[in-house]
Amino acid sequence: MELAALLNKEHDEKRQGEAFLTANNANHNSKKFYIESYGCAMNFSDSEVVAAILQSDGFQATAVFEEADLLLINTCSIREKAEMTIRKRLTEFRKAKRSNPGMLIGILGCMAERLKSQLLEEEKLVDLVIGPDAYRTLPLLIKEATGGQKGVNVLLSREETYGDISPIRLNSNGITAFVSITRGCNNMCSFCVVPFTRGRERSRDSISILKEINQLVDDGYKEITLLGQNVDSYYWLNETTGVPVTFALLLEQAALVSPLLRVRFSTSHPKDITDDVLHTIAKYENICKCIHLPVQSGNTRVLQLMNRTYTREWYLAKIDRIRMLIPECSITSDMIAGFCTETEEEHLDTLSLMNYSNFDMSYMYYYSERPGTLAARRFTDDIPLETKKRRLQEIVDKQGELSTKSNQNDIGKIFKVLIENNSKRDQHDWTGRTSQNKITVFPKSNTAEKPGDYVWIKIYDCTRATLLGKIVDQA
Ligand code: SF4
Repeated sequence: MELAALLNKEHDEKRQGEAFLTANNANHNSKKFYIESYGCAMNFSDSEVVAAILQSDGFQATAVFEEADLLLINTCSIREKAEMTIRKRLTEFRKAKRSNPGMLIGILGCMAERLKSQLLEEEKLVDLVIGPDAYRTLPLLIKEATGGQKGVNVLLSREETYGDISPIRLNSNGITAFVSITRGCNNMCSFCVVPFTRGRERSRDSISILKEINQLVDDGYKEITLLGQNVDSYYWLNETTGVPVTFALLLEQAALVSPLLRVRFSTSHPKDITDDVLHTIAKYENICKCIHLPVQSGNTRVLQLMNRTYTREWYLAKIDRIRMLIPECSITSDMIAGFCTETEEEHLDTLSLMNYSNFDMSYMYYYSERPGTLAARRFTDDIPLETKKRRLQEIVDKQGELSTKSNQNDIGKIFKVLIENNSKRDQHDWTGRTSQNKITVFPKSNTAEKPGDYVWIKIYDCTRATLLGKIVDQA
């Protein structure tokens, strides 16, 4: 759930038909694949690995699913709604398959891992079901499926990191990119399917990570996001040098690649984020001052039922530590409303914790029981849906207040912003983000700035989600 921060609000609704026609469409005779990704940033990053595996197997990408020989959906299983979205999308692909019977349809990602071969029984038009650790076997399974034998590979691995595969940047703006550093998760939060769909945690070797970052800098990228379900527990022992690489050290090595490269990361876990990491963030201007620190609930008894392994007090102490060591840091979070047996008072604890933490933005959901999780096995999903929705609305309203106040506090200040794109609303405006990950919109000036440039923006107004400013000379 936590990686949602990097995409957008309704993350399980988000889909992107990936296409990067320009790059490698030389061979028009080769087979075509179409890939659509749902869910968290890890899935979008995995789709870039899948694209590389397929490209080296002679496939080329298409943005038009009707013309694809291979149609892939990289799925999310975090809530029931996410899976229903996929099933609905499959009905839309039925027509395309009917007009192109040779087309193969494959389900990738967490839903594939959760349901396994059951998906082939339930969805007859599906030919391939492949879990997050089995993408290297795609070419072989495609060959067998082309011969009529449907394929399933949902083996989870304790080693697989795809570290040797150079991802193909899909739907990229050429400025920002994800770099995955860990896979899987060892935390067993009772509401979460990720440990079952993505397996045990493993850290990718820092040598291949830094090689990828250097390549991105050479290709003109200006911002990377280090990705993992719990980046703070990153640990890799370089057996050649015998030097252990912790997350703080990896973060420093990434920042030292180029001072013009911004470094972001997600997601942190309150029990694992260390002072070392905070001091490293404070030490380097190009490490962004933004920490996504999911709390899920403000009440210790509920946190224990969630198996989050920290208390309300522990979390608030982390907030204090961040505010003390990096005063300008923005903090974002995740909240779940209406977890099993949550009382009204315990719900109010979540609202008061939000007040104290002053979150700049958060992702907020009501509890959705997931089959196979600890919570589903141990607890009754006893909070009525109406109560869940009302409590969620109160959390959303509270966050609205905090986000607006946080943005209003920025009026009159000057921030360094990385230009990413034209504003969707007005082509005469640029959009970009501050180091605090705040979306900023400002008019284009006549100094020919372009995406990938850093500019100084003076904020003169805001909405709940956006800062409005104009380009000024350096602060
Ligand atoms: S088990 Fe917990 S820490 Fe791991 S991905 Fe799920 S919510 Fe995040």
